Amino acid sequence: MNLSEYIRNIEDFPKTGVHFKDITPLLANSEATDSCIRQLLALVGTQKIDKVVAIESRGFFFGTLLAQKLNAGFIPIRKPGKLPYKTLKEPYELEYGMDALEIHEDAIKKGERVLLHDDVLATGGTARAACNLIENLGGVIVQCNFLIELEFLDGIKKLQSHTVKSLLKY
Ligand code: AMP
Repeated sequence: MNLSEYIRNIEDFPKTGVHFKDITPLLANSEATDSCIRQLLALVGTQKIDKVVAIESRGFFFGTLLAQKLNAGFIPIRKPGKLPYKTLKEPYELEYGMDALEIHEDAIKKGERVLLHDDVLATGGTARAACNLIENLGGVIVQCNFLIELEFLDGIKKLQSHTVKSLLKY
C-alpha cells in the first residue's frame, strides 16, 4: 500500500512557508493504519526493543501501537509541565527561540534498548533533544524511526550517531 496517498499536504500551516504533512487521513483509514504499522515494524526487523519512546503528540499514535506489537513498554516524551512525576528536561532550539522536552526520570532503566518514534523528522532538533533525554537516562537507542522524513531540511545530520529510518521521504 502506498501510504503517501493518505498524507495530506497543507501549505502555510501552522505558519507561512511550512508545508505541513497531515497524517489524519491515514489515521482515519484502518487499512492504511494497519499497513503503516506493519511497515514501521519492518524497519525494526528482529531487533529486541525494551521501550518505545515517542514524542508529543503525533508520535503517540503509532508509538503506542508499535510498543504493543514489539512487546515493549511505551514511554511518552512531552512538553514541559505535562508529566506529573519527577522529570528530566532538555531544552532545544526552534527556528525562532527555544523550547524543551521532558521525560519521567524513572522511564528507562540503564542499558534498556529503545526505539525512538515520531511522525515527522524535519530539522531534527526535536528528535535530537529526545535522544539526549533517552541517553541521559542510560537508554541505548537502537533506531530512530519516522513516518515521514523531510530530506530537504537535513534533520538526519543532527542524528548522525544513530540509525535513522523513515517510511516516506520528501
Ligand atoms: P523538527 O524538530 O524540526 O525535526 O520538527 C519535528 C517535530 O515537529 C515533529 O514532532 C513533527 O510532528 C513536527 N513537524 C515539523 N515539521 C512538520 C511538518 N512539515 N509537517 C508535520 N509536522 C511537522
